[in-house]
Amino acid sequence: MVVIDSISKGIVIDHIKAGYGMKVLEYLGISANYNTIAFIMNASSQKHGRKDVIKIENLTDVDLTALGLVDHNATVNFIEDHVVVKKIKLRLPDKVTNVIRCKNPRCVTSSEGGVPHIFHLVDERSKEYRCEYCDDIVRAVE
Ligand SMILES: [Zn+2]
Repeated sequence: MVVIDSISKGIVIDHIKAGYGMKVLEYLGISANYNTIAFIMNASSQKHGRKDVIKIENLTDVDLTALGLVDHNATVNFIEDHVVVKKIKLRLPDKVTNVIRCKNPRCVTSSEGGVPHIFHLVDERSKEYRCEYCDDIVRAVE
């Protein structure tokens, strides 16, 4: 049973791989300065062993592409009036824009400003992405 008693409206990101919660917040650009966040680390889960859980109050929209990159096994619950109104299971996105960055110094994204960083999924298991411009391979999350 998922207990969602601490927020009445917002988003609960559940089943995050233990230790990845901080990365999730970082990728989503969510700051504790502007959001009320409940961050549960290393919770025990019957299905998946240890997990992190993040509850963000009053947030109704979240970048699911970025989230899928960090941990595509996580689930996102949308809460209204203490009730889960929508539940989304994440997947690794086929194409991502401006989430991961190309590290090749000769790539057009490095030499010219304002070029979007576009990547295409190559390998789902290793989370490898290929740069649209220079074909360099980048792993989404170490
Ligand atoms: Zn590149």
